[in-house]
Amino acid sequence: MTTPPRQSASGDDVRFDDPIELAAIVAAAPRPLLIGLDIDGVLAPIVAHADDSRLLDGVADTVGRLANRYGVAVAAVSGRSLSSIRSFGLPDGLRLVGGHGLERNDRPTTPLDEEEAERLVDLHRLATAAAARAGDGAWVEEKAASVVLHVREAEPHRADDAIRELDESSAGVSGAERKHGSAVLELFARAASKGTAMRELIDEARAATAVFVGDDVTDEEAFAELGPADLAIKVGTAASIAGHRLRDPDAVLAWLRALDGHVADQRSG
Ligand SMILES: [Mg+2]
Repeated sequence: MTTPPRQSASGDDVRFDDPIELAAIVAAAPRPLLIGLDIDGVLAPIVAHADDSRLLDGVADTVGRLANRYGVAVAAVSGRSLSSIRSFGLPDGLRLVGGHGLERNDRPTTPLDEEEAERLVDLHRLATAAAARAGDGAWVEEKAASVVLHVREAEPHRADDAIRELDESSAGVSGAERKHGSAVLELFARAASKGTAMRELIDEARAATAVFVGDDVTDEEAFAELGPADLAIKVGTAASIAGHRLRDPDAVLAWLRALDGHVADQRSG
């Protein structure tokens, strides 16, 4: 299950960090620096249909430069499949982590065993039934080890009912894991989390400082993996355990550009 936020903030209570000041804080932190970035809602504005999602102009160039700076590693960590992440055209030099950590671009994915494969069939059947209940606009995405019910474009009441019913029906599937997101419910035949993925990336990079930027409920698992010297950055106004906030993908891009500028200056100076 997804880690529940320990503290909540929402609506009028939310205070956003200044992207430029936040970049200076990160640039001053000890290296090696590992930066984990969610994609949807962070590098790409949220759109009605996930297939229409595009990076903000300037993001690819900026993260590409940053990933090649001395003592800096950058990873895109998404719930999307690896093939879907690749369609964004992120530059070489970034580590790509898909399926909430189940897939990585630098190593093969372990195939599902028989039990996991059977579980995935059961979950797919339940998700398909739920999509039919949600009606027009709902659809089921199939990934290597999970299925996702998408209801962003469905009629809101029917969408809510379908998500709730699928949450209940899938709870009966032994060994399955559920993750709620924004207008989605994902059912896993094999457990995965952005928290575990970030822990691996931090260890591999021997990072002295880790930063994770995310906007959705599942990103809280990555925030929870960070230590006191690390920086958790929530995008948007939803409840979060993160200590920092940026308003939207435009603010994230401003932060990335300022950070890259700082790092470049430090290198030449
Ligand atoms: Mg997101």
